[in-house]
Amino acid sequence: MGFVPTMGALHEGHVALVRKSIAATDLTVCSIFVNPTQFNEATDLEKYPRTPEKDILLLTQAGCQVLFMPPVEEVYPTSGQQPLKVEFGNLAAPMEGAFRPGHFNGVAQVMHRLLDLVKPTKLFMGQKDFQQVAVVNHLIATTHPQVQMVMLPTIREADGLAMSSRNTRLNAEQRAIAPTVFKALTDAASKVHSHFPADIQKEALEMLAVPGMEPEYFEIVDGKTLQPIALFEDTDYAVACTAVRLGNVRLIDNIVMKEA
Ligand code: AMP
Repeated sequence: MGFVPTMGALHEGHVALVRKSIAATDLTVCSIFVNPTQFNEATDLEKYPRTPEKDILLLTQAGCQVLFMPPVEEVYPTSGQQPLKVEFGNLAAPMEGAFRPGHFNGVAQVMHRLLDLVKPTKLFMGQKDFQQVAVVNHLIATTHPQVQMVMLPTIREADGLAMSSRNTRLNAEQRAIAPTVFKALTDAASKVHSHFPADIQKEALEMLAVPGMEPEYFEIVDGKTLQPIALFEDTDYAVACTAVRLGNVRLIDNIVMKEA
């Protein structure tokens, strides 16, 4: 059984995961659950796009066999649940963990619960949320070792912007500058053989500081430990991860810079 957990407002990135699961397993379950415990900003949760009719149509067209759309009380019953005790250490601390306090606790909590309810053998997740994949990998190794993680590449718009449910909240000016994020990432990746990580980071942050866009972080990390790297020679897996704000919309993206 393949499982594709989502928060709905589905786009081609989600559909690619569903298609891959259908091709690789006998039964595909997609879940749509806007998980309140992973939101650290009330307005982000409130404004999170919800398009259930369109989602059902996309999933039906893709051939997804099961849609699981639980109410909050089913995922979080008030009694009978064991508290989740998994230590994520440095994996959950930097980047998204630093800028969204409590976010990965919420992600771990919901993933633990969904994996218990759905009981898949394969879990399909997007590289777009690279740190989330690392955290969930640690969770499944600790609590659901029978589950195999399949990470799939980020699906992008023609201009490079990573598809995201939050993109629908960008106004026309914000949408016009949003591709700068992927430009900064590809520019960074092109310098891997000629620059130090610290210099690439500095130049990327400058590139991202266009009017209307506020970079939160641009980190070049080891893809396994998620710790910043000083020299590319120190790792065989280097990933650049970034987050920016456009008004009250927050976008994240990443690129693999070096892979063994
Ligand atoms: P979300 O609905 O944003 O929680 O995302 C659900 C799953 O879809 C996660 O595993 C995401 O990493 C993945 N995903 C979101 N956007 C993309 C994208 N543009 N390309 C590939 N996977 C994506």
